[in-house]
Amino acid sequence: MNILIVYAHPEPRSLNGSLKDFSVQRLEAAGHQVRVSDLYAMQWKASVDAEDDLDHPPGARFEPSLSSRQAFERGRQRADIADEQEKLRWADAVILQFPLWWFSMPAILKGWIDRVYAYGFAYGVGEHSDTHWGDRYGEGMLAGKRAMLVVTAGGWESHYGPRGVNGPIEDLLFPIQHGILYHPGFDVLPPFVIYRTSRMDEDRYATVCHHLGERLDTLFSTAPIAFRPQNAGAYAIPALTLRDEFAPGEAGFQIHVARE
Ligand code: FAD
Repeated sequence: MNILIVYAHPEPRSLNGSLKDFSVQRLEAAGHQVRVSDLYAMQWKASVDAEDDLDHPPGARFEPSLSSRQAFERGRQRADIADEQEKLRWADAVILQFPLWWFSMPAILKGWIDRVYAYGFAYGVGEHSDTHWGDRYGEGMLAGKRAMLVVTAGGWESHYGPRGVNGPIEDLLFPIQHGILYHPGFDVLPPFVIYRTSRMDEDRYATVCHHLGERLDTLFSTAPIAFRPQNAGAYAIPALTLRDEFAPGEAGFQIHVARE
């Protein structure tokens, strides 16, 4: 199978760098084709701007969504964007690996999403009708592919537990797993999170690699998070609210994960 690792850490000798190298070796040893987008090494341009549309007239007002749509449709995106879209088309599974920085992904990775996820590629696809509100949340250009987060965090696991002060990790990762990955169609696997990174030594590193290796070995068999498809009846359209019979009386991110 084809696997793309999108990796965001500025230091190759970091814990993240070691884990990325481990993942490449493990996946290749299992017979997979692996490509890595090492965003810092690529000096990835993180900001959306008019230069992303090769046809943007100098001095003209820049409208990010419209410009993205037109450049994508005309094949006039900057080459770095088109190259990453090609990698996404090629991949059967995508791993986003990053340190948790201020409760989210590093800015360079967010900038990869902002630019690579073009209008017409990752959003703005499919018909809108009384029963179908675009191809998204379970449908879309990336449907049929799997995605998984590999995240390191300085905080303890309990800090990210159900009553932890940082908020539950599944809530913190919801905008990435649901909003960024499930939205364009990925099946999203449970994340692999390494907590309390300052307490890493050789023994613990070996244990972490053992567990990460198991997750990589089961990349194509692990059950995805049961996010609810948008167009399969659970949501009222066009309000896009979860119907009362699902998670009755509840609110918040986790109502969008099916438990029935
Ligand atoms: P490193 O610092 O490279 O390594 C961590 C430890 O692992 C070190 O002790 C190192 O010696 C050891 N190590 C590295 N490689 C190996 C190896 N091969 N074998 C054995 N040991 C090894 N944390 C939070 O929880 N929430 C936040 O919101 C948050 N925000 C942050 C914002 C910023 C801007 C920064 C800089 C940090 C933030 N942190 C936060 C902490 C951050 O998540 C951790 O520092 C990061 O995840 C550690 O990953 P690293 O790859 O940089 O580790």
